[in-house]
Amino acid sequence: MEEAVLKVRHLKKYFPIKSGFFRKTTGYVKSVDDVSFDIGKNEIMGLVGESGCGKTTTGRTILRLMNKTSGEVLYNGKDIFSMDKNSMLKIRPEIQMIFQDPYSSLNPRMTVGEIVGEAALDHGICTKEEVDERVKEVITACGLAPYHIKRFPHQFSGGQRQRIGIARALILNPKFIVADEPVSALDVSIQAQIINLLVKLQREKGFSCLFISHDLSVVEYICQKVGVMYLGSMVEFALKEELFKNPLHPYTKALLSAVPVPDPKVKRNRIILKGDIPSPANPPSGCKFHTRCNYATERCSKEVPEYKEIDKNHFVACHLYE
Ligand code: SF4
Repeated sequence: MEEAVLKVRHLKKYFPIKSGFFRKTTGYVKSVDDVSFDIGKNEIMGLVGESGCGKTTTGRTILRLMNKTSGEVLYNGKDIFSMDKNSMLKIRPEIQMIFQDPYSSLNPRMTVGEIVGEAALDHGICTKEEVDERVKEVITACGLAPYHIKRFPHQFSGGQRQRIGIARALILNPKFIVADEPVSALDVSIQAQIINLLVKLQREKGFSCLFISHDLSVVEYICQKVGVMYLGSMVEFALKEELFKNPLHPYTKALLSAVPVPDPKVKRNRIILKGDIPSPANPPSGCKFHTRCNYATERCSKEVPEYKEIDKNHFVACHLYE
């Protein structure tokens, strides 16, 4: 079997809670709590869950944009957290991020040519003489026109700005991209264009991708496998077809029940979850989902369910499947 491009093993990212006059650590927000998964070559994996479940922190930590608390992130077999500055600098162009908000992630004082070309020059992908041509090529592939190179971010629509964000990542010929809710800030009519562009570019350029989203219909369209996170933990993971056909975890079932069906004759029984998502600073005991789960028993509030493979490539953390 081909080696995974990215292997995440028992990744944890905790943020200390400081309080009192001496700013003593009195607890931790467990944003990412023992998360493991693999992403293969040319594969797009979706990471879904409600806001605040730790998706973005997972994405940023695996790119080493923030330090981990523990665990391993292996990129082509090498732990990125054990790499020294030089090795990290070498692989940085290969691992890129597309941000959620296309406006705040672009420097308003720089032209598109400067924004997209900057990293290519920094990493020696091309020379000063070649950079304009290279930028024009990449922005054209992303659906913009060569003359846009001289314009500033405020002169573009939201969808066009996200195209600039994609071009900025692609100019470095990345092998692995974290796309963090790349369409959620955009108008619905523009979302499909950007998703189709990402799919097209991924097929042409052949990069692997962690696609972070709360929109399951987009994930169903674009991804080959899907992980579901709740309060920092992975509660279910499966190949896309399997997850959408046979969701096991009560949280996944609730999320899927909210996905709109395009056929007006088909009625879906919407599962309404009780209450709000609890604070990650003070998560419920046992199964973190027990305060909202319709199937919860006494055991669920006491014992943490083991995250295990119950069918080939189908993992779940729930006492119902023991
Ligand atoms: Fe619900 Fe219990 Fe399963 Fe948690 S372990 S999802 S509370 S049934």
